[in-house]
Amino acid sequence: MLRFSARVVVVTGAGNGLGKEYALGFAERGASVVVNDLGGSASGDGNHSSRPADEVVKLIQSRGGKAVADYHSVEDGKAIIEAAIKNFGRIDILVNNAGILRDKSFMNMTEQDWDLVQRIHLRAAYLITHAAWSYMRQQKYGRIIFTTSTSGLYGNFGQANYSAAKMGLVGLSNTLALEGAKYNITCHAIAPTAYSRLTQDLLPPDAEENLKPAFVMPLVLYLCHESCTDTGSLFQVAGGWIGKVRLEKSSGAMVRRPNKPMTVEDVRDNWKDIISFATPLHHSTQAEQVTHLWDAIRKMNNNN
Ligand code: NAD
Repeated sequence: MLRFSARVVVVTGAGNGLGKEYALGFAERGASVVVNDLGGSASGDGNHSSRPADEVVKLIQSRGGKAVADYHSVEDGKAIIEAAIKNFGRIDILVNNAGILRDKSFMNMTEQDWDLVQRIHLRAAYLITHAAWSYMRQQKYGRIIFTTSTSGLYGNFGQANYSAAKMGLVGLSNTLALEGAKYNITCHAIAPTAYSRLTQDLLPPDAEENLKPAFVMPLVLYLCHESCTDTGSLFQVAGGWIGKVRLEKSSGAMVRRPNKPMTVEDVRDNWKDIISFATPLHHSTQAEQVTHLWDAIRKMNNNN
């Protein structure tokens, strides 16, 4: 059985839905958990409440687990990490999960809808991860999860603000995986689908039974276990199905010819090859894509 004894975990937005399931899962396997939740509405409007975080902590304690509640907004990320240090003396695992929705067609989207969603999903994930980072670097150990969304990966009508923020988290995770590698800090992004108050009106009737947050939790715990040393991956996870997602690039075309001006017609005439995925490429590092580009340029120049 994979255990988290002596590990300290912060789960943001752990008062409901997916975050609650993660907090219960970590605690059941021996971790000390900071259950962060400001107890807000799904849109981020209105009053806050300590109840959701308190109830999760009570549940964990009633099962013999260790947890404390934290009611800060994720925008006060530093204070949440300090709660972990103050109560449990360290921070090993951070699950960036808190989130809101302010869905509107792009035409009707206000700056407030845009800004609030960027702030809570992307900027706050930066703030709290930055606060945890120095501790993780120092102790040469850390496990970080970012929660992205299929709305970012594939687009979704009415979610321009959310899609943009969620794809921002993929970029953040990719780069922190590189920067954390030599400190044994791993980072992953997950795109879950689960029945929760955020999605209950959007999902089909049998979703409550088939898309439980409990069917996402085991992946998050596995990625955060010390025995899992993979890093920098993106996963889609829902209903018990888990798969890895990566970018695909067409082989493309070198449309420029040696010592000739490059024209719009060169693009048009090579369009089929530019967009063909007949022989796709998958680069897993920046170096691989740079090599591919320069190979193409050199090949073209050598045909001079
Ligand atoms: P949820 O509404 O059930 O839970 C989110 C929790 O975050 C709530 O308890 C809320 O109070 C808390 N929260 C919101 N703003 C906060 C803030 N500023 N500070 C602290 N806590 C805050 O939603 P969920 O479906 O469990 O979603 C969890 C995460 O998963 C979100 O980031 C969401 O975007 C993402 N996600 C969910 C789905 C899905 O199908 N449920 C799909 C893709 C992505």
